[in-house]
Amino acid sequence: MIRALFYQTLTILLFLISISHATAQDIAYLKKHVYYLASDEMKGRGTGSKEARKTANYIKKEFKKYGLEPMGEKGYFQDFAAKVRRVTVPDSLRKSRNVIGFLNNGAKRTIVIGAHYDHLGEGKQGSSRDSTSYGIIHNGADDNASGVAGLLELARHFSSNNTKEPFNFLFISFGAEELGLVGSRYFVNHPTYPLSDIHFMLNMDMIGRFNPDNGVSVIGYGSSPEFVPLFEQIIRDEQIKFYTGYEGRGGSDQTSFYEKNIPVLFFHTGGHEDYHKPTDDPLKIDYESLRGILLLEKEIIIKSFSFPTLKFRNTDPKE
Ligand SMILES: [Zn+2]
Repeated sequence: MIRALFYQTLTILLFLISISHATAQDIAYLKKHVYYLASDEMKGRGTGSKEARKTANYIKKEFKKYGLEPMGEKGYFQDFAAKVRRVTVPDSLRKSRNVIGFLNNGAKRTIVIGAHYDHLGEGKQGSSRDSTSYGIIHNGADDNASGVAGLLELARHFSSNNTKEPFNFLFISFGAEELGLVGSRYFVNHPTYPLSDIHFMLNMDMIGRFNPDNGVSVIGYGSSPEFVPLFEQIIRDEQIKFYTGYEGRGGSDQTSFYEKNIPVLFFHTGGHEDYHKPTDDPLKIDYESLRGILLLEKEIIIKSFSFPTLKFRNTDPKE
């Protein structure tokens, strides 16, 4: 009896140790990505810069490591031009690229997971909120190294979990979001995968500054009527705190998909005092909560499997 109890306790203990080990591991990956992407070496990943190119290469290498199939136009890349419109600069037309990898589960339909990797560079392309920051590196840890880290972690998870999900996954890291959703617009207008086969699009933009009072916002809840029964299956007590927003449209890349009548969910932890300033740094990211947000996303993705299709609904206010 005592011996049985001993073994039972030991098993539970080992189980708990393995969980905490996995958690520490996940957080280590997230940190690694954010600290690299938002390091001074990457100079704020401004569109057209050598460092933005380097960022795209980093993401490509990760995709390759996870065994994702290249689904761009040149391997993993889809090249396009983006124009700086907010300020007048001599080099207003800039080269950018999306990075696209496909996890083929042999399914008919596909879930798109997206996060933009570009940021404001050294504050010379407009939209810095700090007027004294011209020429200073805007690291963009929350915006959007946090989202890219999330994207890479979901890609790693779904490609290494030894499970063939009933949907495929298309992972896209967009360029030139900060210049007006240019990369995601380019993708939906030049799709490398049929848009009609997309189940829904999940976007992550700024998921590193979790506020425990509000929770993470999940915007786009109205873009499919099926999201209501889907979210009813989510046990709130087991997840990080969240709230839903009805609108499919919003200031990030999910808007491009919404405009093509694809249901969308946009994860966002909200604005803060470092938003679009040089002080958006890796040290200020809440990695524990970032991991919690990814767990919530995984749960929503898994629950979406029980819906063969998700109907699109327009959420624009009626005139
Ligand atoms: Zn952003």
